[in-house]
Amino acid sequence: MISEFDIIRRFFSRPTPSAVLGVGDDCALVRPRAGMLLAVSTDMMLAGRHFFPDADPVSLGHKCLAVNLSDLAAMGADPRWAVLALALPEADEAWLAGFAEGFYRIAARHGIELVGGDTTRGPLTVSITVMGEVPQEFALRRDAAHAGEDIWVSGATGQAALALEYLGGRAQLSEAARTACLERLHAPEPRIELGRRLRGLAACAIDVSDGLLADLTHILEASGVGAEIWDEHVPRPPALASCSDQDLVRQCVLAGGDDYELLFTAASSRRAAIEALAAEIGLALTRIGAIVPGAPTAVLRDAKGNALQVAVKGYDHFR
Ligand code: ADP
Ligand code: MG
Repeated sequence: MISEFDIIRRFFSRPTPSAVLGVGDDCALVRPRAGMLLAVSTDMMLAGRHFFPDADPVSLGHKCLAVNLSDLAAMGADPRWAVLALALPEADEAWLAGFAEGFYRIAARHGIELVGGDTTRGPLTVSITVMGEVPQEFALRRDAAHAGEDIWVSGATGQAALALEYLGGRAQLSEAARTACLERLHAPEPRIELGRRLRGLAACAIDVSDGLLADLTHILEASGVGAEIWDEHVPRPPALASCSDQDLVRQCVLAGGDDYELLFTAASSRRAAIEALAAEIGLALTRIGAIVPGAPTAVLRDAKGNALQVAVKGYDHFR
């Protein structure tokens, strides 16, 4: 059986050229670039709660870092450093090799370096803290939305939630739709490039982890404003166009979590620039509504302007 120190040395000690000191000492030492704020975020993932205990380790390594990177994206931050706290029921070398592979592959793509962590025996748990850099004046804060701004969403939401419906036997999907949905559930892509390019263009942003309307409500509450969302304009994933249960698709699009798209607000004077950005980075950006004065609720409207009822709430671990 390999030791704790063998695990760290063999699987989690790749070079960290952008840190002053990486894995191996009591602390890592890092130096943010001049004029930058450090953006820091943690996400914890537990087997049986956030992922299936038998999840493929490569995609688990990817996903655990991806969801953390998504928080940096939503802040407009450049990814820099990560620490990884890992509880493992046993030292399974094949599992560790797969997990490290998935983790380091997405880390390299986004320029984030693993500079430390903690390793212990226990129920399988992956807790990652990421650090990024953002210029103070451009951080995309949730409390910065103003009445009159447009509301935008990247890509399309709903596929990860529909994958869970499929895995739970509650939805039938064509092979193409199944592939697209499972890919989104297991291998979400954090919108890092978008977040960075929204600096100075967008006022505020959040990543869609709990559901489009639920995450929008977080912005509304933090900013003290309301919102109108135009149901017909909310993008539906193309892969789901032929799905027989369009009510379920709609429910997943509006309320499904785990897609890690960005929801952001911007002044109407930025429309052309945002459309140009979408073309440049090859990612759909869709205007789906507007920030309005008033109570912090999102009103969904049909094409005629009638308010629609939506029985959707974001995920809450304690309810
Ligand atoms: P300490 O007892 O000082 O907390 P540890 O023995 O826990 O140190 O860890 C030794 C070194 O290995 C530290 O630099 C720590 O940051 C790093 N480390 C431990 N676990 C991991 C991990 N899973 N991934 C990356 N670095 C790790
Ligand atoms: Mg320790």
